[in-house]
Amino acid sequence: MSHTEPLGNFKSEDAPHYDDVLQCMRCGFCLPTCPTYALTGRERSSPRGRVALARAVAEKKLEFTPAIKEEAFFCLDCRACTSACPSGVRAGEVMEVCRSQAHAFYPLGKMGKAFREFILQKMVPSPDLLETSMLPTRLYQRLGIQWLVRHLKVLKLGPEWMEKAEGMLPRLEKPLRPQLPLLTPARGEKRGKVGFFLGCVMTLMYPNVSRNTVRVLSHQGFEVVTPRETKCCGAPHLSEGDRETARQLALFNLDLFLAQDVDYIVTDCAGCGAALKEYEELLEERAEHDRLARFRSKIRDVSEFLMEVGLRTEGLQEITASVTYHEPCHLCHAQGISAQPRRIIRQIPGVELREMAEASWCCGSAATWGLKYAEDSRKVLDRKLENVKASGAEILVTANPGCQLQLAWGVREASLPQDVLHLMELLGRALPPD
Ligand code: SF4
Ligand code: SF4
Repeated sequence: MSHTEPLGNFKSEDAPHYDDVLQCMRCGFCLPTCPTYALTGRERSSPRGRVALARAVAEKKLEFTPAIKEEAFFCLDCRACTSACPSGVRAGEVMEVCRSQAHAFYPLGKMGKAFREFILQKMVPSPDLLETSMLPTRLYQRLGIQWLVRHLKVLKLGPEWMEKAEGMLPRLEKPLRPQLPLLTPARGEKRGKVGFFLGCVMTLMYPNVSRNTVRVLSHQGFEVVTPRETKCCGAPHLSEGDRETARQLALFNLDLFLAQDVDYIVTDCAGCGAALKEYEELLEERAEHDRLARFRSKIRDVSEFLMEVGLRTEGLQEITASVTYHEPCHLCHAQGISAQPRRIIRQIPGVELREMAEASWCCGSAATWGLKYAEDSRKVLDRKLENVKASGAEILVTANPGCQLQLAWGVREASLPQDVLHLMELLGRALPPD
């Protein structure tokens, strides 16, 4: 998707491939699938328009203007357009590459740069620092300050994103990573050994999900290796246009997991899974092809994995509930995994799957997009919540922490009755007690 040769008016580092912007035949099949086009009705905010802008830069017909920078960041990178495109154009990924170009053309000021570097290059790559950074928030929640702030509606005075960010916070627990065993034994007849990729957002915000993923894998007969050194997959860096830090993290995780004696590498986070599967492309000039191919061949989303090996359903307890499923963009569009989570839901005794309309339409979270464009995000979310409501289901299931944060917040704000769970939490409820 990116290369280091000069391409038209792009800077030389990390420019899109010309082929990727040339393939668009302007058919418009992608238009009805694009949330930002639905919001604005503007051609430049559509996949077709964005690819046309990138092509014009590549062909030296246009400079890399502020409008292109805006579109690069306004794109949700939801990849819905890729699923719809008959030519295989990946407008979201072209825009992701354009974000790093945007930083090259329009560098941040001193303060902004220092802040960005601290967050992306120091804090996020360090699991220890990330966990420590959560301590003030845990105190804020436990000392009653959060209650006061919410009760007095103090954050209504600030920008919308701040109130939303605070409102989205689930109750934080002690970091899970140091508590999870390095090796969890298989239960029943052993079927293999898997490495568990511990996603940083998932484990910090929803440790119960990671805990349940390990339980499920173990109950399914797999020995689970959880390397504590695992670092962020690099998805937040790609999303913010810092491709170099993403590469450093990818190289670290590649070495770490290839050194483990495991049959598969499993993740419960759609965003991590998509990023891990794209290491091959990200590192094409930095790591040996056979190592990248070996790593890629082992990566599985947990739902993909369970359907591939076959879900053992004996011993699953009945859950009498109706469930609707929201498809994370990075699961259905980026990884093509759509049927597997539904098949798991259907195999849980007692569960009724009620399809919502537009299940694969973005929820409006998209990493920091939901905060940067809080008002637009709200509109995208409202459309999703209408469909959740119409399903009449008791439980809303998803498979990505970003979606879960956004949906749980939306459901609370709209006073909807649904519980919002990750697929592994739902399946975990059906497991016999440990
Ligand atoms: S991006 Fe694909 S679907 Fe959209 S106009 Fe171009 S070729 Fe058609
Ligand atoms: S990735 Fe999503 S937001 Fe971006 S152009 Fe494609 S459909 Fe639109």
